[in-house]
Amino acid sequence: MSKEYQFGVYIGRFQPCHNGHWQTIELALSKVERLIIVLGSHRVAMDIRNPWTTAERADLIKQCLSAEQQAQVTFLPMRDWLYSDNLWLTAIQQQVSEITGESDSIAIFGHHKDSSSYYLDLFPQWKFIETGNYAKLNSTNIREAYFSHQQCPTDNVPPAVHDFLKTFLNTDRYQTLCQEFQFLKKYQEIWSVAPYPPIFVTTDVVVVQSGHVLVVRRKASPGKGLIALPGGFLQPDETIVDGMLRELKEETRLKVPAAVLKGSIVDSYVFDNPGRSLRGRTITHAYFIQLKSGELPQVKGSDDAEKAWWMSLADLYAHEDRIYEDHFQIIQHFISKV
Ligand code: NAD
Repeated sequence: MSKEYQFGVYIGRFQPCHNGHWQTIELALSKVERLIIVLGSHRVAMDIRNPWTTAERADLIKQCLSAEQQAQVTFLPMRDWLYSDNLWLTAIQQQVSEITGESDSIAIFGHHKDSSSYYLDLFPQWKFIETGNYAKLNSTNIREAYFSHQQCPTDNVPPAVHDFLKTFLNTDRYQTLCQEFQFLKKYQEIWSVAPYPPIFVTTDVVVVQSGHVLVVRRKASPGKGLIALPGGFLQPDETIVDGMLRELKEETRLKVPAAVLKGSIVDSYVFDNPGRSLRGRTITHAYFIQLKSGELPQVKGSDDAEKAWWMSLADLYAHEDRIYEDHFQIIQHFISKV
């Protein structure tokens, strides 16, 4: 018997896939001939919000599916464009239409759980099917219990996910994520006594010369060991440009005079995605410094940076999944213009 729709689309992070997701997948498979599961936040660096890779997430969902269901499902890894829904939509439209061709029999499944579900309304060309909320489950609570109590969820996730999470308890990655979780919890507790939720102001800088970007390796949590832009919190007595130059010098000891750096600023932008930092609401003022081509100036990691180095633009793209917070997107924003 033919199904109601030729194609279905289901977008999510599935960090991890729980019974609410699974109910939706089963519902969708009963209504569509072929289901496209869009695995969002592809290639973001591991943190407590996105602990598992795209391959792990796809594999887990696959393990929950029967052989017949597997034949119905196509996975579509999809990276984020935190500062451009239009670029994200372009990628989804292009990649979905490569699968669906000219078909106009397409449904999109999802649940408006909170304001973060706004993206479900960006696909007027497809029939939206609201799935409702299953047992008030959400991945955030599951992750919090998992990383704080060191306990595996049992009732709320499909058996294959439970088995995976149980094995994952014994990995170094799990220990790293638990430490990161504790760090962030403590950080948020310290600020919880403030009369209003704090809004932090930071600076970051993209210094480019001859196809290379100046980057650092983070010495401490959050994001210990990840690649990042030089930057940090603004001090009470400095302007934003001065704060940026101070952080740049402290973390990289870049051997270029401050006046030359200041004169080489070609662009700046405020990056303010509300979810960009797990520490809390953090608005960063980022600058773009383009230095004259030639031999790359000496740098040396210090202060919060374990290491500082010039990374080729090609390497940067290859290491996207090792780059802290939205720093890859900040770099992309500036270098795509010049
Ligand atoms: P998710 O795994 O939290 O949820 C996936 C779907 O399942 C959602 O429709 C959600 O409402 C639904 N769901 C959750 N709990 C449920 C329950 N108990 N019962 C029934 N349904 C339930 O994933 P998400 O965070 O919503 O994924 C969206 C993805 O799209 C992310 O990767 C995000 O970064 C990406 N995105 C990117 C952009 C951009 O790059 N510009 C914009 C919007 C969204």
